[in-house]
This record gives sequence, C-alpha cells and structure tokens, in this order.
Amino acid sequence: VFRAPHSYPGEDTVEITCHGGSLLTHTVLCALLEAGAKQAGPGEFTRRALLSGKLTLTEAEAIGNLLDAKSEAQIHLASSAARGRLAATLEALHRDVLTLLSTLYARIDYPEEDLADLSTEEILVREEDILARMERLLASYRTGKAINEGIATVLCGAPNVGKSSLYNCFAGDDLAIVTDLAGTTRDVLQTTLPLGKVLLRLCDTAGLRETGDPVESIGVSRSRARMEAAELLLAVFDASRPPSEEDHALLADLRRAEGCVVILQNKSDLPTQLPPETFADFPYVLSVSATSGAGLDALRALIERLFTDGETVPARDAVLASARQYAALYEAKEALARSLTAFRTGLPTDLAASDLERSLAALAALDGSSANEEIIADIFSRFCVGK
Ligand code: GDP
Repeated sequence: VFRAPHSYPGEDTVEITCHGGSLLTHTVLCALLEAGAKQAGPGEFTRRALLSGKLTLTEAEAIGNLLDAKSEAQIHLASSAARGRLAATLEALHRDVLTLLSTLYARIDYPEEDLADLSTEEILVREEDILARMERLLASYRTGKAINEGIATVLCGAPNVGKSSLYNCFAGDDLAIVTDLAGTTRDVLQTTLPLGKVLLRLCDTAGLRETGDPVESIGVSRSRARMEAAELLLAVFDASRPPSEEDHALLADLRRAEGCVVILQNKSDLPTQLPPETFADFPYVLSVSATSGAGLDALRALIERLFTDGETVPARDAVLASARQYAALYEAKEALARSLTAFRTGLPTDLAASDLERSLAALAALDGSSANEEIIADIFSRFCVGK
C-alpha cells in the first residue's frame, strides 16, 4: 500500500503481486473488476500524477518520450526533462514574467504613488533578459527535434551507385536487397535509426532512372515525392566511374531541392573517375565507402553539426522536445517582444501589461497549469495502457 502523496500518481495506491500465469492473473483481475475497479486507459497513471500536481505537463511528456526512446540521446534528453530540468526553466520564466506584470499593474492602479519596486530602466533590462532566455530555449528545439522526431532523410542516386549498401551500413543489418542489377530496389524502404546524437527517418529509394517498367516507375515517382519532402538528402554517386546522364539529371534536381543536400562520393576504395568540378556548387561533399566504412564517421559528425544547435547537451540543458512546446513558447516570446516594444516606445502601460498577460498565459499552457484538455488528451493517447 502506498499512501498519498507517496506514490507515482500521488493518490492512495495498492500494488497486487501474484504468481505468474495468465489464468491466475486473469482471475485476480476479474475479482477486482467485480469489486468495482476500472481498468486503466493509455497513460492513466501519468495522467493522474499530472492531475494531482506530482508532475508538470512537460515532465509527463518526457515520461512518454522515455518509454518510446530509440536512442541513447533520447534517453538522456527525456530523463533530464522527466526530472524537471525543462519544468524548472519554464517555472523561472513564468515567475519572472509574473513579477514584471504585478509591477506594471501597481503602476496602472496607483499612478500617483511611487509603489513600483522597479524603475522603467530596470523593467526594460528584465524584459530583455527574459526575451533572451526564451530565444535560447526556442533554439534548443532544433536539437530536441533531431533527437526525438528524427530528420526526414532520403538516400537518392542512380542505380548501382551503392545506395542500398550505404543504407545497410547505417541500419546495421541487411534490410535492403543488394544486387548488381540496376532497379532492384523498387519501393521505398523506411527505417528510423540513431546516428550519434540525432535520429534519422531514413528512406532507401528506387533509383530515379526513366523506365518502361510500370512497377519500377511507381517507385520512381514515390522517390521524387520523398525527395521534395526531405529535410536531408544524401545524394549518392559512384566515384569509380565518370558521371552518367542520370547523375547529371539528379544534380539538376538537387539544385532545386529545399532540404539540405549532402553529396556522397561512394566507392572511394576504388580509383576515382569523377572530375573534381562535378560537385563544385554543393557545399557538403564527402568521400565514403560502403564496403570499407570509410568516411561514415565524418558523415555522422556533419549531420549532427547541421541539425542540432551544437551548444545544447541533452543530459544537462533544458531542451524543447515537441512542436507543441515550441509553438507555446514561441507565442509567449512574441507576446513578450510586443510588450517590450510597447514599453520602449512609450505606449500606455496597460498595452504592455496586456501583452505580458498573453505571454504568461502561453507559459501556463505550456507546462500544464492551464493546458487545454484536448491537448492533454492527445498527449496521453500516445502512451501505452497503464503507464
Ligand atoms: P544501389 O542500386 O544504388 O542500391 O546499389 P547497391 O547498394 O545495390 O550496390 C551496387 C553494387 O555496388 C553492389 O555490387 C555493391 O556491392 C557495390 N558497392 C556498393 N558500395 C560500394 C563501395 O563502397 N565500394 C565498392 N567497391 N563497391 C560498392
């Protein structure tokens, strides 16, 4: 028996342990249900912990992320947030905005008296400091997103350049079929895999060659759609032969791509036949070999550099971990910036105060004290039953 508040959900809790075996467990469960117990829904225990004030919303989200973690960086990030690293940072922001707001209200309500404990100059300095802290935290979302949600990545290139071999190098097993025949990979394979600090949502695609084979041509059009949506394009070329017509067509597509393009000159274990000017207008060009593994560490380091903010250490710093958190903090920051402008330009104090109030409301929604019920329901729907 765990008496409130000394239990995970913060309520009186009883844990029943019985011998194993599904029939025995089932019998105990039936007895409990007959006695009036209700079965837990997804994330029930964590949700109750949120409602009884034992956890904030970002801590509850972090527990969900911890249960789903696929990489070590994700575990570090989620456990730091579950222990309250992000919640403490948000609470300090909330407290400081509240202090400013009460100072402004004192000025509005008692304009004649010198009640405000902060001068106009001090208010400006504090608002600027809070704004800078919010901007820093917003920047951490780049890292949080790369770790938690993964980077939509496409491996593209002409047939036989070594896409499937590279894919297998990343994935660590033989998920894709590797053959010497052009056009073997007909459909899009996808896997999520950790690469150092980041997570790649990696697709191996059919080649982009024009083809009369209807099955292969469906694969080709899917590949194009993936290329357009990708955040990271790993474009593979066979360095052991001169660039083909298809290679040139791909280069033209890549110049139009919106995502970040990294050129991989594969088969670097063989003598190179690629003229040095082939990739002159691409900023990221690496020599790799799927056979020997050469260049793959440099690729990992480059991707980490491109997709994280570089300064954030997931285990140590507060990091925004979801689009929901980013959107709420962005709203808080924009309202604070408006209040700062109003204050700087000498607009009436109540305008600055109403923007500060909006900023405070966005912060409160961000970490639970006034989060929307639908948002909470959505967060817990992603938990597994019980937990
Ligand atoms: P894809 O059609 O682009 O997916 O190419 P595959 O991965 O199926 O590779 C085509 C051929 O190139 C296979 O025979 C691979 O063994 C070979 N290959 C792939 N990468 C390398 C490499 O780095 N060095 C060498 N020497 N051969 C490679």
